[in-house]
Amino acid sequence: MSEQIKQDRAPSRKKIPVLAFLLIPAALIVGAGLLFQADIGQRVYERLATQRAQFDRMATLEPGLHVAFCGTGAPLPDPSRAESCAIVIAGNNLFVIDSGSGSTVNIAGMGLAPDRIKAVFLTHFHSDHIADLGNLALQRWVNGAHTRPLTVIGPSGVEQVVAGFNLAYARDQIFRPAHHGENVVPSSGGGLLAAAFELPERVTPPAKETPVDIYSADGVSVTAMRVDHDPAAPAVAYRFEYAGRSVVFSGDLIMSRSPGFADFAQGADLLVVEGLQPSLLSVLEQNVIARGDPNLGAIMQDVLDYHTTPAEAADVAQLAQASALILNHVVPPLPSRLLEPAFLRDAPSRFDGPVRVARDGMSVSMPEGSNEIQFGNWF
Ligand SMILES: [Zn+2]
Ligand SMILES: [Zn+2]
Repeated sequence: MSEQIKQDRAPSRKKIPVLAFLLIPAALIVGAGLLFQADIGQRVYERLATQRAQFDRMATLEPGLHVAFCGTGAPLPDPSRAESCAIVIAGNNLFVIDSGSGSTVNIAGMGLAPDRIKAVFLTHFHSDHIADLGNLALQRWVNGAHTRPLTVIGPSGVEQVVAGFNLAYARDQIFRPAHHGENVVPSSGGGLLAAAFELPERVTPPAKETPVDIYSADGVSVTAMRVDHDPAAPAVAYRFEYAGRSVVFSGDLIMSRSPGFADFAQGADLLVVEGLQPSLLSVLEQNVIARGDPNLGAIMQDVLDYHTTPAEAADVAQLAQASALILNHVVPPLPSRLLEPAFLRDAPSRFDGPVRVARDGMSVSMPEGSNEIQFGNWF
């Protein structure tokens, strides 16, 4: 018995020096790391800053049409999603579609220089589509010594939005040139410049809305069509064409009251439609009412009548014979990608092409001279 105990204990006595042999150098390394933490951090920062400064996303892209998402959320707070914002890159042109809160920082985060932005297109004037305009204009201005304000293209009413931002930023637009000098931050480049377009009169179904040509330059053409997002009117969808490829952004809309949308999106390589899943939103609604917040509960009930479900988006994508569908403006917030099937429900089975839930940083490349659609991530 005593011999047995002796045998059992013998190996554990041998382990002590081996353990010490491993732990002491590790402790020394950790100790040195703590001691030189600031210097190590400085070196790491230098390396990261150099990599970032030298990276130009646009220079890495092959010829064609490229889309990326700088904001895929909506007003219900979602820590993983900025509010509505998308990027279109066509040749040397960089366009922004909507400028929701928190989206400007994502543009830089994707390796895109804000001073390259040529124009912003607004789908409508809800706060979650315009809140970052002031910051976007500032970043473009101070990074590029621009001498003209950032152009904001939108339906009638864009003048009022732009005038409001310009008023709010008027003092800032004096401070910056005064501090940095006219050569670095020219006064004339601050703020925003509205470029409004007119829409035809609203039609009554079964008549269809008529698209209007609103932009044509450098091989890029953009058309707009009125959609129903009442009372947030006017609201429009946009179609971008470049190098034989196309993308359609629905903006916010209720699909069943937006006649002509499927025609507008016909044959698009990429269709980006807003998506609200009522079965998930009702869970939030029940919970906010249960905690004694009927106001927010009423808002969640109200929003059902001017948005589009993933199933409706898939149906219109199928009707339009689009090649791929992305659900954007994700409502309600999804705290995990594992919840995407619950958000999409049967949408993928209603459309022949790929269906994706948009995430901040997601990209889609459509190379010239092919039918390819490449999904990626620019973060
Ligand atoms: Zn809206
Ligand atoms: Zn919205």
